[in-house]
Amino acid sequence: MEKNIAVIKGDGIGPEIVEEAMKVLDAVANKYSHKFNYTQILMGGASIDAHGVPLTDEALEIAKNSDSVLLGSIGGDTTTSPWYKLEPNLRPEAGLLKIRKELGLFANLRPAVLYDELKGACPLKEELTEGGFDMMIMRELTGGLYFGKRSTKEENGELVAHDAMSYSETEIRRIAKRAFDIAMKRNKKVTSVDKANVIDTSRLWRKVVSEVAKDYPEVTLEHMLVDNCAMQLVKDPKQFDVILTENMFGDILSDEASMVTGSIGMLSSASLREDKFGMYEPSHGSAPDIAGKNIANPIATILSAAMMLRYSFDLDQEAKDIEEAIEKVLKQGYRTADIMSENKTIVGTKEMGDLIVANL
Ligand code: ATP
Ligand code: MG
Repeated sequence: MEKNIAVIKGDGIGPEIVEEAMKVLDAVANKYSHKFNYTQILMGGASIDAHGVPLTDEALEIAKNSDSVLLGSIGGDTTTSPWYKLEPNLRPEAGLLKIRKELGLFANLRPAVLYDELKGACPLKEELTEGGFDMMIMRELTGGLYFGKRSTKEENGELVAHDAMSYSETEIRRIAKRAFDIAMKRNKKVTSVDKANVIDTSRLWRKVVSEVAKDYPEVTLEHMLVDNCAMQLVKDPKQFDVILTENMFGDILSDEASMVTGSIGMLSSASLREDKFGMYEPSHGSAPDIAGKNIANPIATILSAAMMLRYSFDLDQEAKDIEEAIEKVLKQGYRTADIMSENKTIVGTKEMGDLIVANL
């Protein structure tokens, strides 16, 4: 299989961690006789420095014409970097918002995985997480409260603020389908999270998700109220496979779930749309405090590359190989500084990449 991947190394630790992910992708390509062609483009601070804008039309065009995008991370220290003295629409993050919008990426997928080997970092009681957990949060990214009409105006002598929340059947249906497709590749369970006892958008959400579920008879669908879900994530995280939810609930729940794992350097993410195209990046930021020191954990980015293989290229076995290689390296006792614990062997960014390749 031959695929064209647009690569955005980005800022901070971005270039170091993407380098390791490409190394792993090449090892997989070698093993299975695939060909991955990379075209590097600039975005964020690196693009501001080179072109004065966080994303050029030329770079965007290359991303649009590729099969997928692999992204490190963008941005710098918001208090000291000159990028943050620019107008908001010229700052690094504006490039990210633009590329997401231009590529039509409406679904954000964030796994929250607790590896048995790293369960010491989990803040939950050990009996709740025996054997680890592995869930996927599917958050709607382009609708809901964050994109509704808003206003603040004076009414009866005081200020009153309004934020409108809306979802169409089309918007709900397309993300629900994506979530069920993903559940089919996993443990065939979807928990749809809403607030259907109170708000109309949630009642429509529940109705449309239930309709979509009929096309996936093998997948078990369960509806859960968001307040209960927030509680269940810390009470019994092992019950979840795919959590499907709207924009704001997903914003809150995906952060909660990632904190429950205790290992930010291990968490990948994907932004998807209806077709196979996707943009893949670690959940963490550009960590400028540790950039260029060969100490950043590349695993989140390598796992994002594995998600790319699975969800954009349908290369399930290849993705699994990467995930298993990572688990092996952890079992062998190797750790980057952020996940280091007693009696383990500390390694740098490059060495971690090499170890994963060696275990492929
Ligand atoms: P953003 O606003 O982009 O999310 P942030 O400052 O909130 O950025 P991160 O950049 O993710 O968050 O960094 C938070 C902390 O976690 C930092 O101290 C950073 O060094 C650490 N960190 C983040 N990613 C990694 C990684 N891959 N390896 C090691 N440490 C990391
Ligand atoms: Mg942050």
